Amino acid sequence: MQIDTLILGAGAAGMMCAIQTGERTLVIDHAKAAGEKIRISGGGRCNFTNLDIQPENYLGQNPHFHKSALSRYTQWDFIELVGQHGIAWHEKTLGQLFCDNSAKDIIAMLLDEMAKAGASLWLQTSLEDLSHADGMFTAVLESGGKRKTVQARNLVVATGGKSIPKMGATGLAYDIARQFGQTVTETRPALVPFTFPEGRFKALAGVAQPCRMYAQGPSFDEALLFTHRGLSGPAALQCSSYWTEGQPIHINLLPTAAFAEHLKTVRTQIGKRNLTTELANFMPQRLVDFLKGEMDLSGNLGDLSDARIDALEQAFTGWELFPGGTEGYRTAEVTLGGVSTDGLSSKTMAAKDLPNLYFIGEAVDVTGWLGGYNFQWAWSSGWAAGQDIRAKA
Ligand SMILES: Cc1cc2nc3c(=O)[nH]c(=O)nc-3n(C[C@H](O)[C@H](O)[C@H](O)COP(=O)(O)OP(=O)(O)OC[C@H]3O[C@@H](n4cnc5c(N)ncnc54)[C@H](O)[C@@H]3O)c2cc1C
Repeated sequence: MQIDTLILGAGAAGMMCAIQTGERTLVIDHAKAAGEKIRISGGGRCNFTNLDIQPENYLGQNPHFHKSALSRYTQWDFIELVGQHGIAWHEKTLGQLFCDNSAKDIIAMLLDEMAKAGASLWLQTSLEDLSHADGMFTAVLESGGKRKTVQARNLVVATGGKSIPKMGATGLAYDIARQFGQTVTETRPALVPFTFPEGRFKALAGVAQPCRMYAQGPSFDEALLFTHRGLSGPAALQCSSYWTEGQPIHINLLPTAAFAEHLKTVRTQIGKRNLTTELANFMPQRLVDFLKGEMDLSGNLGDLSDARIDALEQAFTGWELFPGGTEGYRTAEVTLGGVSTDGLSSKTMAAKDLPNLYFIGEAVDVTGWLGGYNFQWAWSSGWAAGQDIRAKA
């Protein structure tokens, strides 16, 4: 079978690319359904983009690589597509856009656009062998016990990263990259909860607190969630992308309160109030009880010296913790690192020394923050590759 374009992976990036390349495009995926990660994303409502997409919202060895694709296919382009399909959406927080109804609406939209463009989709199909000669890729595919050989001028690798192997994530993109002489940067789980030695935060499991948090990168003002195993919630997930093993994370539990100033004022008005009672106005009681075991919170407000108040504020705003690790690829939303951008064109996503080979989406060493940034990268990079293939045809 001869086609123009073979796309490996029917996820967000692969489907967006197929919509551009259209006829004589075959998308294969070993999963039973297309867009499985879209389906489970955003708690089933898919945080499909963000109103405020900036280059700074992405990590990768080259901080400029993602700029071109993101500026040519923007969040507004995707919002327009969503609008054309009558999919209602809302902004939840911090510019994050979610479907009103279901993430399945986004999958249906992409499948509909793919069908309209004339692209074919083979599910439950895996790649057995891949080679390249005389300007053509030859792929041996396996489906339902049968083998088929497909020849394609263009090969687009859109098989994502290693996160959530249970959902079909594999390292195929990295293997193909190496096979064709591309470099793969070190990969590790990102947007992933931190773990701590057994029992450290067990008493706090389920407690959430708005905080300002940072690891070895920018700080995030978002919610922190304590779990049986450690720390999760948007603040912890964001920081995990910047965390390196053995290094601390820093938590400000009172990012919006002028706590010391407040205590010094109320000390003269209600001096007989317990410090812990007052603290419960700023955080959940269970967190106050936990902190009582970590530091001295005894006494009434009237007994507190200025120095002790300042020390308390320092303790609450500069809590330093050393995570034991993270939950790993089992629960990570994304994979940090991947196919090195050094060998790829930022305009087309094609390999510089083999311009009919493309890498898009999470497989590439471009990782977004939590908040719709990763899907926007999948749409933009898929679009950029698809446009280049269309232009060449
Ligand atoms: C729980 C969860 C929630 C998330 N929520 C959000 C969110 O709300 N907003 C956001 O922006 N991002 C979110 N993400 C991240 C987002 O899902 C990914 O960044 C995005 O899906 C990457 O798109 P992709 O097309 O590159 O890869 P994927 O979506 O992972 O698609 C890759 C496809 O390739 C297929 N594949 C893999 N290996 C093979 C193989 N060997 N043979 C054949 N097929 C193969 C897979 O089955 C899959 O269909 C979330 C991730 C997770 C895990």
